[in-house]
Amino acid sequence: MKAGIKVKFWGVRGSIPTPGIKYVKYGGNTSCVELLLPDEQLFIFDAGTGIRELGNSLCNREKQLKAHIFLSHFHWDHIQGLPFFMPSYIKGNEIVILGMETQEVKLDKILSNQMESIYFPVKLQSLSADIKFHVLSEGNAVIDGVNIDTVFTNHPGQSMGYVVTYGKTKICYFTDNEILPAWVTEDNKLKYRLDCRDKILYLTKGADLLIHDAQYTDEEYKSRVGWGHSSICEVLRLAKDAKINRVALFHHDPDHSDDQINILMANCKEQLDESYHSIDCFAAHEGMELHF
Ligand SMILES: [Zn+2]
Ligand SMILES: [Zn+2]
Repeated sequence: MKAGIKVKFWGVRGSIPTPGIKYVKYGGNTSCVELLLPDEQLFIFDAGTGIRELGNSLCNREKQLKAHIFLSHFHWDHIQGLPFFMPSYIKGNEIVILGMETQEVKLDKILSNQMESIYFPVKLQSLSADIKFHVLSEGNAVIDGVNIDTVFTNHPGQSMGYVVTYGKTKICYFTDNEILPAWVTEDNKLKYRLDCRDKILYLTKGADLLIHDAQYTDEEYKSRVGWGHSSICEVLRLAKDAKINRVALFHHDPDHSDDQINILMANCKEQLDESYHSIDCFAAHEGMELHF
């Protein structure tokens, strides 16, 4: 029998790693999610510090590795783990790094810059694995036989969200995205795209899983408009409109301890009316595995 689809969270923290006793339950590593498909396609979303542990576990899975690493964008919390991804030091492994690029800086340069000798002792070019780069823009691509939709999100400097469709299963990864609530869109002084929510709504419709940035409470969001992150309640509203029943809240604020996240989750569900209660919404934590 063919294996199913596995999603595993290796880093769920936003902005900066948060080691320490207050962060044990949800974890302190920054963004990294593993998606393993039945035909053994290995897709990795973001290379925050969580990718180090994932890399170590992949080294234990023995055989030669082929992996696709999809980057949402290049803020530190999404790329900083890349130099510590052990499979990239092993000859014979094949690693494809995918993401957007800017007119000024090409994708390979963006990543090799953070491994210049002033920052890190090993250069990207001297890694032993076969490392390739694949530039993506908004639209659609077939990667390793799998259909991927991409959309630029509302985030300073832009970020990219991914929708993976495998057979009838749809898994969506949207970190670092500010869903603009109605009260912001009415007076949009931001240089954000107002149609972003509609695009995401269209692409994620009926998805099996939505992983979404949920860094703030509604109250916190009021003083952080334009910072590029969403409130938990806005994510739930999007999920309801897109008829998504399983939502993993992701990119937790570094100042939110385990106790606080527990309380936020309970409060948010209470604030929303009963029609939201059918949504299986949970705060993603390090080590969490989901199967489809
Ligand atoms: Zn981030
Ligand atoms: Zn960011």
